[in-house]
Amino acid sequence: MINRERIINTFCELAKIDSISGEESNISKELIKRLSSIGINSELDSYGNVVSKSKEENTIILSAHMDTVQPGKNIKPVVASDIISSDGSTILGGDCKAGITAILEGLTSIREDKSDPIGVEIIFTKEEEVGLYGAQNLNFKELKSKEAIIFDGEGPVSRITSASPTAIEFDIEITGKAAHAGVEPEKGISAIRIAADLVTRLPQGRLDSESTFNIGRIYGGSVRNTVPETTILNGEFRSLNMETIDSINIILEEKLKEIQTLYPNALIKENIKENFESYQINNNESILLKVQNALSELGLEPELKPSGGGTDGNVFRKNGITSIVVGMATHNMHTLREYVTISDLVDAAHFCETILKNK
Ligand SMILES: [Zn+2]
Repeated sequence: MINRERIINTFCELAKIDSISGEESNISKELIKRLSSIGINSELDSYGNVVSKSKEENTIILSAHMDTVQPGKNIKPVVASDIISSDGSTILGGDCKAGITAILEGLTSIREDKSDPIGVEIIFTKEEEVGLYGAQNLNFKELKSKEAIIFDGEGPVSRITSASPTAIEFDIEITGKAAHAGVEPEKGISAIRIAADLVTRLPQGRLDSESTFNIGRIYGGSVRNTVPETTILNGEFRSLNMETIDSINIILEEKLKEIQTLYPNALIKENIKENFESYQINNNESILLKVQNALSELGLEPELKPSGGGTDGNVFRKNGITSIVVGMATHNMHTLREYVTISDLVDAAHFCETILKNK
């Protein structure tokens, strides 16, 4: 049976294990141990994802990611009535430990009740938050499943991500010329000045209901009294619409050309690449019907909502696995105000169990 106390304990224990992106070895060991204690063999793949494969036919994948954003070290979960939050000095890591908790509890309950579940493959990925790298490095050929449920959405489990954008990331490196800022600034070319000029010409923020643009980081220069020689900008843009992606790409290229013409003696190099690819779920997908049926069995109303974020679901779909991303009871993800609603987390565990029971 699904057990609320056990869910709270599992969640808090997992939240206390530091697992910022790139440092997932402790959490992965713990998860392999926990899966083994409920009779599921799993192992680390060559990239560091925890993977449990199945030999059965008609299996589905249950998945969540192991890493958290920062500040995510020394997390102290605080339980107060129906809410679990951090102590305010870190994120909570409910993204995605709530998802992992729901999966573990669903599997545990099935085993306790000696139910006969459908075949399942479990995937806990590494480095989702920094670019879906774990998922991109999975060996999809070794997986049997053609369908997946990913616990990595905001809000209750009934919230289904109906669409996710394409995301393009870019780095721009501007090289000017250093010179003493007080003695001979005429001899210098300020890379910071060029970067500023470029940024003011580029789009910013929400461009339309389905597209965004952001310069997230800019760094350059060396010391106060030297004309800065180099500046680097890291940015990204996203859209649900591929035509918009193409037109933003054209704007970016145009603006770079414009700036190069204005500052002919500076060197401007760009690296633009796709981070993940958009998808839109189709109402006839059998996995969507399974998800909707399980939700209605539990008396939950499915709510389809597009997201501006990417998840491992984007990568799974690109690799032929029809994936549905559901909510995992977290709110205010990626902030110090992050919290998990315990009743929603209990629902997510019930949902996982129901999916596994429904043949
Ligand atoms: Zn997440």
